[in-house]
Amino acid sequence: MEVFCFGSGSRGNAFVVRVRRTAFLIDAGFPPSVLRTWLARCGIRDQELSAVVITHEHHDHVRGLAGLLRWHSCPVFATRGTLAALKLETARCVRVAPDEWVEVHDLAFCPVAVWHDANEPVGLRIASPEAELALFTDLGSPTSEVIASVRNATLTIIEANHDRTLLEGGPYPEWLKRRITSPYGHLSNDAAAQVVRECGPSTHTVWLAHLSAETNRPELAEAAVRTRLARGQMFAIVSLAQRGFYRWCSDYSRPERCVAL
Ligand SMILES: [Zn+2]
Ligand SMILES: [Zn+2]
Repeated sequence: MEVFCFGSGSRGNAFVVRVRRTAFLIDAGFPPSVLRTWLARCGIRDQELSAVVITHEHHDHVRGLAGLLRWHSCPVFATRGTLAALKLETARCVRVAPDEWVEVHDLAFCPVAVWHDANEPVGLRIASPEAELALFTDLGSPTSEVIASVRNATLTIIEANHDRTLLEGGPYPEWLKRRITSPYGHLSNDAAAQVVRECGPSTHTVWLAHLSAETNRPELAEAAVRTRLARGQMFAIVSLAQRGFYRWCSDYSRPERCVAL
């Protein structure tokens, strides 16, 4: 399994998961031409996506979706609530439900309900015979379903949105601070660290996602997670930039499993 990230945060989110000829795009939060260029960099040309999966309808996850669909005729998978908010051409849409696995060629995915201020938002488990990915970029509270997902994962992508001290002293108005810290907002570094403590023995890499440019810093997020690791936990921890190109591969014979370019 290969996983690519094109960046994660309030300016956009997009991930690619690929096994052999099967390729999923998870969220489409960058301009269409940017997504097309980066897909080509992954070796995925027009009409070669097997599926687009959308976690929720917020702008930073769907900004480039309608434009990208001009170059790919694959179905778009999302929950009933997300599809209702997206207003896409219905022939393209496939409704999915939390806790129900969906197989598309060589990959399977399972939406996991999350607490976030959107219309039926989900995180995802994505599995192939060689690896499993747990992807949770926007959530206010780590539920037992989220914890169960990261226990099984080889690669975990988990939100580490803000440092609590920077947020409290930062420039945001009070209503926005309350929204971010609510159970339906975004995970702090400390809350992300509690989730990472639950990662199981199959975990090889953790990507910290959706870092705020104003109220977080990569070194703070990584330190918060590292200092709370449980005994025996050893894996790579990488903060994702708002824009970047990251690749992870489950082929352990290769010398580098995680590359930030
Ligand atoms: Zn969101
Ligand atoms: Zn988001």
